[in-house]
Amino acid sequence: MAMALISLTELKQGISHLFYPRLCGGCDKPLVATEEVLCISCAAELPETNYHSEADNETVLRFSGRIPFQHATSYAYFTEDGLLQHLLHALKYRGRKDVGRYLGRRFAESLTDTEWIRTVDLIIPVPLHRSKDASRGYNQSMAIAGAMGTVLGITATGNNVLRNRDTESQTRKSRAERAANMEGAFAIKNAEELEGKHILIVDDVLTTGSTLEACAVAVSAVKNVKISFATIGIAIS
Ligand SMILES: [Zn+2]
Repeated sequence: MAMALISLTELKQGISHLFYPRLCGGCDKPLVATEEVLCISCAAELPETNYHSEADNETVLRFSGRIPFQHATSYAYFTEDGLLQHLLHALKYRGRKDVGRYLGRRFAESLTDTEWIRTVDLIIPVPLHRSKDASRGYNQSMAIAGAMGTVLGITATGNNVLRNRDTESQTRKSRAERAANMEGAFAIKNAEELEGKHILIVDDVLTTGSTLEACAVAVSAVKNVKISFATIGIAIS
């Protein structure tokens, strides 16, 4: 009989899942009642950059000379097989929108004492192409941006920037090819709502920066806007 093949450990896990069905977004272990999204050890392991207190941080350097911007920061280091990669994977591919909200909240809390964040008028997530948005059911960057907006008391909206093309996978292209591929990938809707504002563009992870740059180019076409960048992760090789 199949039942007899279940080990005591499996049985214990099953019972535990009954009482604590929520799983850690980092290691998939069941969370205890006091834990939220991450277990206590994963929560402590998140490799924070503390870039917000560094004017010339690596995120700033990645955008330097490419497009005019005010400030740029990333919350944590994104490494191959690292905790943040697991978390962002859960957010993007496993329906863990709560992971995005959690990371957005922690990021925003780390920024509350940063002076420049007070000058931001609007938070805009990098939009997905609508085909991807529809298949995933949500934009992972909007989950992050929304939570940041709530903590910071700044409006976050996904309604003003549209993505014309799905350009997500272009890691094999050269920088020049990527830039060409990105041209016209984003469009602005209701530009008057953005006019004269300091806009914080938010994304899940910064690698080459070409997607964020293309999004910023589109936003920059609006009269008198100022742009800053914030990403949860920064890819470090
Ligand atoms: Zn964990």
